[in-house]
Amino acid sequence: MSRIIARAAIRGAHGYVERAERELREAIEAHGPGKAIGFPNTAYYLPLILALTGIEVKTLADAERALGIARDLLPPVPEDRLWLPYLGPALDAGIATLIAQEIIEALKYLRGEEPEGIWLGFTDDATLRLQGIKLVDGRMPGFAACVGAMPSVEEAVELARALQERNILVFMASNTRGISMAEQLAEAGIEMSWDTFLVPYGKDTSAAVYALNFAARAAMTFGGIKPGDLEAARKILLYNKERVHAFVLALGADYGPEEHDGQLLTDEKYATAAGAINFGFPVIADVPIPQILPRGICTYEHVVSGVPHDKLVPKAIEVRGLKIKVSEIPIPVPYGAGFEGERVRKEQMHVQFGGKYSDAFELLVGRDMSEVEDGRVTVIGPDIDQVEEGGAMPLGVIVEVAGRRFKEDFEPVLERRIHEYVSWANGVFHMGQRTTPWIRISKDAFKKGFRLKHYGEILVHKFKEDFGGIVDKVQVTIITDPEKIAGPMEEAKEIYRKRDERIAGLTDEDVDTFYSCVLCQSYAPNHVCVVTPERLGLCGAYTWLDCAASHEMDPHGPNQPIKKGETIDPVLGQWRGVNEYVKRASNGNLERVNMYSILQDPQTSCGCFECIVAVLPEVNGVMIVNREYLGDTPVGMPFSTMAGQIGGGVQTPGFLGIGKLYITSAKFISAEGGIRRVVWMPRELKEEIRPRLERRLSEIGEPDLIDKIATEDDAVTVEELAAYLEKVKHPVLAMEPLI
Ligand code: SF4
Ligand code: ZN
Repeated sequence: MSRIIARAAIRGAHGYVERAERELREAIEAHGPGKAIGFPNTAYYLPLILALTGIEVKTLADAERALGIARDLLPPVPEDRLWLPYLGPALDAGIATLIAQEIIEALKYLRGEEPEGIWLGFTDDATLRLQGIKLVDGRMPGFAACVGAMPSVEEAVELARALQERNILVFMASNTRGISMAEQLAEAGIEMSWDTFLVPYGKDTSAAVYALNFAARAAMTFGGIKPGDLEAARKILLYNKERVHAFVLALGADYGPEEHDGQLLTDEKYATAAGAINFGFPVIADVPIPQILPRGICTYEHVVSGVPHDKLVPKAIEVRGLKIKVSEIPIPVPYGAGFEGERVRKEQMHVQFGGKYSDAFELLVGRDMSEVEDGRVTVIGPDIDQVEEGGAMPLGVIVEVAGRRFKEDFEPVLERRIHEYVSWANGVFHMGQRTTPWIRISKDAFKKGFRLKHYGEILVHKFKEDFGGIVDKVQVTIITDPEKIAGPMEEAKEIYRKRDERIAGLTDEDVDTFYSCVLCQSYAPNHVCVVTPERLGLCGAYTWLDCAASHEMDPHGPNQPIKKGETIDPVLGQWRGVNEYVKRASNGNLERVNMYSILQDPQTSCGCFECIVAVLPEVNGVMIVNREYLGDTPVGMPFSTMAGQIGGGVQTPGFLGIGKLYITSAKFISAEGGIRRVVWMPRELKEEIRPRLERRLSEIGEPDLIDKIATEDDAVTVEELAAYLEKVKHPVLAMEPLI
């Protein structure tokens, strides 16, 4: 490491540790050492400190202990003449910096000075898990921590778009001479949120620590690494190097070439960079700071500098070795997963379809090879240049596919992807499916030349790109003529009805093969989802049909058929074939799994479950809590705390991570009495699944049970819940004891 960087980094680390010590002392004087400190909605305390030192910082006194470690790590600031041949001291300084920065940021929360306005501050556990699954399934190849600002607003927008188009998550922190990239994007009116992959953490350089404590939690959450000692810390850093493909973009110079002894960036930035290098995250800079090229801790170079602005993203991808698939779709707007969550507001809208404004439907059907002309897009009716700005048009979208290996069963699997494909276009908003889609196209996209033909092109290209194994030809017909949409829409409804009947009837007993999903093993190496017709994957994204289709398309992929084999216990849902598979796929960690039980050898959880089911022994029932619900629950913990305890691929009897659809399955914890055991769930979840829940409860002859299931409006503590269940005479009171 060049002398100048090492000196600056070590000096910066001293600065941070001293500042943290000072602010901590002030806080202790004001509140006493027992005062609680922490970030909102996390089970990981101060996550980076937990990961690096094993200390659970709950109070100011704990923070003091952690800071003591940082102080001990600090190397002396080298003399000018001293040659530092190794990275070692600067890397230690980097770790000390991160510990100090995390305390500095946490103290802001204590003082009520946390990042606000455009700044999002700390990422809570729920968001971490939600975004984590995108890393797991490859929607996100990695993240970029952008530190500083671009020379102009336009260039900042270009950089953001270039990263979004490659589905790279963008974290923003710090500033260059008082300006930050996030402020530049805000000035350009760019929507910044987790949904658009643009996450502004905070304007101080210390806010960069949020990106690293996100990365550290990814290792603990998805990698199942238990923090505690040096060995664990080493594993967490290694995990990040190997699995969390991140890099730092250092943007802009803080000093002129003559100003500060030739040093172009602040000591704080060098110290933070040294911290990031410990994670194996290389630093790519636009200004000519000294490079650190030999390979060591990072997969490739540590610091690459003087990169021209238009080469920043390709260079980072090359240095970090990211595997990026960019869709080359001939449309006039940027395209990528980063645009999926983007909304088009009424004032920004050129035209809309569906919703409550017009008829709309989306259908995907398989056809004979001779019936499909590959790549053809037909528009029947006026295009969007013939509508009055802000108006509505009807929209029928029929995607016809053909392939020698295509099966009718794959139709709904592919059809569900229409949402994602369409909404990845910048300036196109999409919601819903079948006969309930709601689509908006922005004025901006229209001005760039986006037309319905492009809508069709997107679908043709994406289906062939992602499903090339089963789809040889794709053609798309788009109907906007109000006279011509009714007939096809009726036909589509008939197809949906038949499909639902076929799928709804399928039970675990009807098939001799289940499917595995090991997608999450890239994060939770011992986790296996066994997916059956009546129990989908716990992330909610993979049904039995999805897995069957995915296996067909990619026979060596993450979804493998599991022959059930001999039935060991039909009530618990245990089969010899499943046990054998799970033992192998969990690297010998699991002997057996029961598909229908929460108490005996239940399925493991990786981390991306939609809901958690938890046993409440006091009331002889179970509660269900969904990820979106942030409040307290009768088990005495919010979702995030519980999630932290059950993830990582281990069996935790009494707790189960599940997909929402499983709640209304006939096999929902059927070994313990099924849906009758449910005594509590958040109101929002109940409303979301109400139609299915009503149907299921009628099936078992208990239509009144729906009102006996408490929500947070009826009870939050287990005592309140017991009283409520007594009052409504919930059937669990008469059921045999759970435990
Ligand atoms: Fe992960 Fe299971 Fe979902 Fe597969 S089905 S992506 S293993 S949670
Ligand atoms: Zn998962």
